[in-house]
Amino acid sequence: MVLEAPAPVESRPLAMRDLDEPNPGPGQLRLRVTACGVCRTDLHTVEGELVPPRLPVVPGHQIVGVVDEVGEGVAPGLVGTRAGVAWMAATCDACPFCRSGRENLCPEARFTGLHVNGGYAKLAVTRADFTYPLPAGFSDEQAAPLLCAGVIGYRALRLAGALAGGRLGIFGFGASAHVAIQVARHAGCEVLVFTRAERHREHALSLGATWVGSPSDRPPAALDHAVVFSPAGEQAVEALQRLARGGTVACAGVTMSDLPGFPYSLIYHERAVRSVANATRGDARELLELAARIPITTSVEVLPLTEANDALARVKHSRVTGALVLRP
Ligand SMILES: [Zn+2]
Ligand SMILES: [Zn+2]
Repeated sequence: MVLEAPAPVESRPLAMRDLDEPNPGPGQLRLRVTACGVCRTDLHTVEGELVPPRLPVVPGHQIVGVVDEVGEGVAPGLVGTRAGVAWMAATCDACPFCRSGRENLCPEARFTGLHVNGGYAKLAVTRADFTYPLPAGFSDEQAAPLLCAGVIGYRALRLAGALAGGRLGIFGFGASAHVAIQVARHAGCEVLVFTRAERHREHALSLGATWVGSPSDRPPAALDHAVVFSPAGEQAVEALQRLARGGTVACAGVTMSDLPGFPYSLIYHERAVRSVANATRGDARELLELAARIPITTSVEVLPLTEANDALARVKHSRVTGALVLRP
């Protein structure tokens, strides 16, 4: 499903096209795609909030498939194995960020489904050293949402300080949050979920939330940490207003509407608001290992690839429980 020109998803900007079969170059491999998760970032690409540096482009960055060809320098034994691909497609490996364990901040980073064709397709070519083995207990469809929704949620929890336990507030309850709550509970957190949608509240309660309410509701006690998955900037400030001294709000989205102004007293006492930008390969490996160990259960709804426009429209309007996955 190819994006030729960004446009509101209601106008169905993705179109089925026959492209030449891509061949893996040196250091690359090719996957025969079996599943590709749908992420809000795909919506931002399709609608032009993230500007694709090249068009046409194939979106999709939670790719599961079977290796069917390897390029020069890649172990031939990988052919026939299952692998996953995430948002980070390449980094420079040389800049100060790459050399200090912060490759997610590399200025030369390239992203799957934005700079290079992604997984809304039958075939995808990727750098072999940016692929991941997937835990055996997960079907292709169940594994797909771990690759971005899961990994970004995991990094957000870590940056918010929630992997040490405590009282965590989650704002917005979509694909990423439904994995993050399971990681947080495994880490010993009490989890409070702020979302307006009744179906999301029920889903949160079924996954162990101790309290659910609207973003404007007062929780029974102050939060030690908060993660904002919602793209609404005002929720970052609402999270801050509910935060105990020394707490951190981590905003997980690639884009967010403007944060309303707020008094300095909201960040006094060492409260912090920070963003989460991409994730390192180490984050991905850690989350995948943790997913197998907990084990995490992903709620997925599988749709045919031809329905990619409809899938993105549902993400836009929060008409999803858990994650959507496309099958070519
Ligand atoms: Zn770099
Ligand atoms: Zn994503």
